Amino acid sequence: MLSSDPMLNMVSLCKRRGFVFQSSEIYGGLKSAYDYGPLGVELKRNLAGQWWKSMIYERDDIYGIDASILMHPDVWRASGHLQNFTDPLVDCFDCKHRFRADKAPKQEPGTEVEFRRDGKTIKGKVGTCGYACPNCSSNSLSEERAFRGMFQTTLGPIDPLGECISAHYGKPKEEFLQEVRKVVEANAVYLRPETAQAMFVQFQNVVNTTSAKVPFGIAQIGKSFRNEIVVEHFIFRSCEFEQMEMEFFCEPGSQKEWLSYWVDQRMGWYRKFANHPENFRVREHGPKELAHYSDRGFDIEYKFPWGFDELEGIASRTDFDLTQHAKASGTKLSYFDPKKEDPETGKPGWRYTPYVIEPAAGLTRCFLAMMLDAYTVEEGKDASGADKSRIFLKLHPALAPIKVAVFPLIKKDGQPEIAEKIAKDCRALGWNARYDDVASIGKRYAKHDEIGTPFCVTVDNQTVEDQTATVRDRNTTEQIRVPLDQLTQYLKERLSWA
Ligand code: ATP
Repeated sequence: MLSSDPMLNMVSLCKRRGFVFQSSEIYGGLKSAYDYGPLGVELKRNLAGQWWKSMIYERDDIYGIDASILMHPDVWRASGHLQNFTDPLVDCFDCKHRFRADKAPKQEPGTEVEFRRDGKTIKGKVGTCGYACPNCSSNSLSEERAFRGMFQTTLGPIDPLGECISAHYGKPKEEFLQEVRKVVEANAVYLRPETAQAMFVQFQNVVNTTSAKVPFGIAQIGKSFRNEIVVEHFIFRSCEFEQMEMEFFCEPGSQKEWLSYWVDQRMGWYRKFANHPENFRVREHGPKELAHYSDRGFDIEYKFPWGFDELEGIASRTDFDLTQHAKASGTKLSYFDPKKEDPETGKPGWRYTPYVIEPAAGLTRCFLAMMLDAYTVEEGKDASGADKSRIFLKLHPALAPIKVAVFPLIKKDGQPEIAEKIAKDCRALGWNARYDDVASIGKRYAKHDEIGTPFCVTVDNQTVEDQTATVRDRNTTEQIRVPLDQLTQYLKERLSWA
């Protein structure tokens, strides 16, 4: 039964078909953590693979890395994350909802609001903060408090609590807490809240070990962690997620051009896979939205069921990060171009700190956007003429978890053997192909429509007689008979995304 809420339909499909499960579900689930099932892992890998292909394999000027999640704590001190990576947290005194002030809908101070308190309806006015509680509309709110979003853990065999208790047992509470903080801070490391910093920290190693010449980029895909105040919309905002980020190093002064180049490139990438390109848009950051390191930035947004929201940020990060890390580490993080004149001295050879353009996409957020974009309900009739809707995921073949499903109509008369041979031939071409003989043929088609398999091949009695099989197209449901010896070529032409 379809709901009128597209997110409910999506969450249900993800669970029912094995795309996404709640983490630790049998123990009641862990808030804000998700596991990707047999189909979800394929879609996620395909998305990451397409991003990697467009960044690394289709060009000659970007180098990939795969850095560790734990980094030296000084990285986060130098980058400003320890001081600035905070969200403004507000508590509602009425409904006890906790929310991010910067994400609460803005309202003109003085706007009338109504909310419930002790069973009564209360009238009030929005205060100078410019928002009311997004849950109950109350204007009775706490001050904004800076909440640090980085997860902290301890490196090494030290048990900070044990250490403190044995050294300071019996001391006054405040003194004791101070000692705890000292030991904890001394051994603290952080789960990275973005993948970007490793690309700055390894800048010189990449330059030294490759033939990289500015302009060039360093890219990576990996896990990031943020202790989000509000986790929302299924996998849209979670505490553990994956990012696909690239730092593009360019000459000072050329950042404006490169910023618009990368906005176009990234929009082109999304449009390549989208069924509804009109649901992807670019929005420039307002001055208050710019991060502490950025002089200009854009978001690529997708029209999610709750409205347009961020899919990817593309920021002009200036020379902030390289400069900060050079200062803090004492390592030279600059680039020498022997062919350029130094603009200050006019002499040949120019050493400078490159400027950086950063397209930073969320892999798991992109997963949700592509699933929503592909989710299609087609109204039709069944064999008896009654209304029947067909649900299918119109995923681009490059993203589809399974490329070809092969069915024997019945499990005898040599049909399974032929079907298995077709599936094997498809796998030899590098496709994820599945042999499937469970349930009626109609149910098998419905299942593969719903998981986005572009083509189903059915082997029947006629196949045994004339060596042809039926190929069914997911998007049109059209079926045609193709000779077995032309089958892989036929599919290759239609699956040719590579
Ligand atoms: P938001 O405003 O939604 O909190 P952000 O501007 O803090 O996001 P960035 O730091 O620019 O996000 O990170 C780059 C990308 O990483 C985002 O565009 C998004 O796709 C993804 N991302 C960030 N935080 C999360 C999260 N908690 N869960 C899933 N994806 C995330």
